Amino acid sequence: MGVARSPAVPRRAAGKSAAQDPLAKLGIARPFDGALHLPLRYEDETRVHSIREAPRGRPVAVEGEIVAAEVSPRPRRALLCRLRDASGQLLVRFFHFYASQTAALAVGNRVRLFGEIRDGFFPEMVHPRYRLVKGPLPLPTTLTPVYPATAGVSQNALRKRIRDALRDADLTETLPEAVLRALGLPGFEESIRYLHAPPADAPLAALEARNHPAWRRIKFDELLAQQLSLRRARRNKSKERAPALPPPAALLGAFVEGLPFSLTPPQRRAMETISRDLAQPAPMHRLLQGDVGSGKTVVSAAAALQAIGNGFQVAVMAPTDILAEQHFRKFSAWLAPLGIPVAWLSGGGKAQAQRETLQQIGDGTLPLAVGTHALFQERVRFAKLGLAIIDEQHRFGVRQRLALREKADAAEGQPHQLMMSATPIPRTLAMSYYADLDVSVIDALPPGRTPVATKLISATRRPEVVHRVKEICLAGHQAYWVCPLVEESEALQLKAALQTHAELTASLPQLTVGLIHGRLPAEEKAAVMARFQAGEIDLLVATTVIEVGVDAPNATLMVIEHAERLGLSQLHQLRGRVGRGAASSTCLLLYETPLGETARQRLKIIFEHADGFEIARHDLRLRGPGELLGARQSGQPLLRFADIAADVELLESARDLAETLLDAYPEAAQRHLARWLADWQEVLKA
Ligand code: ADP
Ligand code: MG
Repeated sequence: MGVARSPAVPRRAAGKSAAQDPLAKLGIARPFDGALHLPLRYEDETRVHSIREAPRGRPVAVEGEIVAAEVSPRPRRALLCRLRDASGQLLVRFFHFYASQTAALAVGNRVRLFGEIRDGFFPEMVHPRYRLVKGPLPLPTTLTPVYPATAGVSQNALRKRIRDALRDADLTETLPEAVLRALGLPGFEESIRYLHAPPADAPLAALEARNHPAWRRIKFDELLAQQLSLRRARRNKSKERAPALPPPAALLGAFVEGLPFSLTPPQRRAMETISRDLAQPAPMHRLLQGDVGSGKTVVSAAAALQAIGNGFQVAVMAPTDILAEQHFRKFSAWLAPLGIPVAWLSGGGKAQAQRETLQQIGDGTLPLAVGTHALFQERVRFAKLGLAIIDEQHRFGVRQRLALREKADAAEGQPHQLMMSATPIPRTLAMSYYADLDVSVIDALPPGRTPVATKLISATRRPEVVHRVKEICLAGHQAYWVCPLVEESEALQLKAALQTHAELTASLPQLTVGLIHGRLPAEEKAAVMARFQAGEIDLLVATTVIEVGVDAPNATLMVIEHAERLGLSQLHQLRGRVGRGAASSTCLLLYETPLGETARQRLKIIFEHADGFEIARHDLRLRGPGELLGARQSGQPLLRFADIAADVELLESARDLAETLLDAYPEAAQRHLARWLADWQEVLKA
């Protein structure tokens, strides 16, 4: 970090690089960082208890005279002392000790101890902190903070550094007086100082649960900084230009007429909203959320038509080859009858054909191209890109989202962006991490879907499961068999899939058993999926590559091996592959015993809930937002203090205030951001 060395850094460390300074590991560079290094908990040394009446179960201070002291060699070398006060005696034990300690704890000395009393045969304290009491030894008037530490940094050293930091840091108020009063939150400096040194009678429970008003103020400021930066980014965006694409009524009418189904009300609503966005001369940045199978693709196809009808090109991007190929087939089926050719850029395609396709995209003859994000990023140049459709948006970070702009021709402005996600993002998360996007939600599945019955089955009952697969396939339906996820090793996962495929082929000679995995070339994956969709394969053995977006309505059974290894959203996505037709469907989750606690909870949640949003809420609770957003999002600033699941109302008031500040108090907004976001700015500028 390009931050001037702070006066709080002691001279001793001045010659060291940041990497060598253990405090740098704790993220403490500027005095302000020290001020924000808030205690985990507190110790109460503000009063001395009597040995007999001191509370048990937490460390306390007692004081008395040493009446006995000896080094006992057995059972384990230890320094044993006895301390006496007016109420009784306390045994004190040290297993590690120096000569200086033996001297300090000599018979006749008066000492003050701090530690936890355990009641055994005698009340006893092991390794207490101690201080010699020679004359008056005043009690501290504030609780003693215990800070998050790291190897090589003692609490005492940390306390000293933080005291210095608190002296040097700029803790001036960033919020206008009127705003503070309306929020009913305490001042910033007051809150910081309180948290580092609460008075003796402070409510410890509220402090440690982090819902004390002082804590709420810090969390609020953090959330406000996040909201301010996201809102500001969004306001800046709205100054950007994009081609205004009014709806081509005849073309859209023909498209909707030609669909083999009628749209659900939420699909219609989403289409209308997107259509209005596209007609504006500013770039759309809209996230279309909807549970697995809710029918997002057709909504995106309507958006594509609106761009094409205005003479612009459309890019449809998917995270995997399989999904790209699915989109290609859906878009072709819908758009070809309207005379619109659709190009598929596949990773494994013939070089010559690829070159031609790329050229036709480059000269503008091809209006719509489908492919993986990777392909688009590497190779494709558009003549006149008007809209980018990004499926499974959660797999891409903010940076990639923003990188798309480079594809745009400056004269035409930015392309509009439509992102789609079947990983439901709970409202609070959407409000914080996606505050720079508009969101539309498809909150109902198309009619005629039958809920998927989910069963948890111990892996010992595998033969019954194989029998079930046979019955279902012989009855004319199809099934998936998902092989276990092998963390970190694609090779092992492939091995498991090959083995399972061989076993199932042997035990089910009546069935055609197919295999699909991530290592297959794109063309072959597509061929296998096409055969499955055409009903030529009864049972499809798959690695988790089928997780996203595959559509085969005749598949009514899904078996997931080692379900305990998969995360909630993955289980939900996989399960969504069945239940897409009219026949009732089943998902069998095979698990190995013994089950760990988290795995047990996950399976319980997936068993009890069908709604993706509900599942995501539980997921957020179990894993925290960082993981839910996925590793790819790690460039996103995460929160240090606020908890998105627990601090909803703080988040809501921070969001509201962010707008007010940007409008009415721009300098306050600027000061607040500068204080909190020295590091975030880079990310958001990206
Ligand atoms: P997802 O939202 O998971 O991407 P898809 O767009 O793949 O879902 O749609 C799932 C399936 O439902 C597809 O076969 C699609 O053609 C079909 N579908 C979409 N909308 C409707 C509808 N309104 N009525 C019936 N089927 C629909
Ligand atoms: Mg989809």
